[in-house]
Amino acid sequence: MRLPKIDNLEITEVSEDILLVHQTDPPYFFSCCDGLLILPKKKRNNSTISLDLNIEQKYVNLLNNIYGPISDYINSHGHLDHTCNVHAWEEIGATIHAPYPESNYLLNLHNFYQGFGFNEELDYEIVEEFAILNGYQGCKNVNAFKPGETLEFEDYNINSISFSGHSKAHVGFFLPDEKIFHISCLGFDKPKPEIEGFGPWYGFKEASISQCIKDIKKAEKFFIQNAKFLTSSHSYVVKNPDLSPFEYMRHKIKNNQDKVDRVLKLHDVLETSENKIVKKLLKMDLFFPKKKLKGAVLEVYRFWESWIIRKHLHRSEFFRNIQEN
Ligand SMILES: [Zn+2]
Repeated sequence: MRLPKIDNLEITEVSEDILLVHQTDPPYFFSCCDGLLILPKKKRNNSTISLDLNIEQKYVNLLNNIYGPISDYINSHGHLDHTCNVHAWEEIGATIHAPYPESNYLLNLHNFYQGFGFNEELDYEIVEEFAILNGYQGCKNVNAFKPGETLEFEDYNINSISFSGHSKAHVGFFLPDEKIFHISCLGFDKPKPEIEGFGPWYGFKEASISQCIKDIKKAEKFFIQNAKFLTSSHSYVVKNPDLSPFEYMRHKIKNNQDKVDRVLKLHDVLETSENKIVKKLLKMDLFFPKKKLKGAVLEVYRFWESWIIRKHLHRSEFFRNIQEN
């Protein structure tokens, strides 16, 4: 099919009338994520469905002009890069669906603030400033679904699949008719095959590295057995039997563990308190270069990185040895 040319949008046809859309110039680091447009097709859906495509309002409006009406929008989880612009889809008439309880984070930023445990360490104003920088606006109504539930639209079904290591309600999606497996934020985030991303992300108290590893295994098995195509929130289309996304994600987690282990092994971090070790490691900028960051942005990055460090500390045998001695 002929694809429209829109500045700053990359549109790829994954399968017949199913498009992967990517905004190339997000206004801020966490304001956008890639997603799918499921266009109308006979014996499928009469109106377009947008699957976790969080892009700026002006692009939502442009796509609506071309492919509208857009009846439904499906969100994958409550992180900012998946929630900031969802209101724009609601404004053009789409019904919003999101996994419970993170569905509530789309309605009100206070729910996001408390739900992800920011309230235990940061003032609301800090998180609010950061969310506004990324363009967050709340939605009026959201239909909640249970992670793992099948979503039914006219004659068309979409399976949601729970991948809870990244966030408790985080889901991937499977389009059974086209065999497209959208893994959302599982951690395959390479913009191009030759460019590295951050990998799986677990910078919140509720995230879990061991669950991420289980999720990657579950997704790999599912992909091998059921899918033709793999898409994700921050990457390109991969075709079965290419298993490089799963190798990449495992490799990134192992690399992160090695970084923390190396520091514990080489440096004198024998303080008894975990908090002191975390503080020391935070100063080393192991995961995020923070020298140029200021204010709310710095606070939020420190918050995330402290959880990433803590999770790797708990998995480190060097740390366990320190604790035992
Ligand atoms: Zn996320």
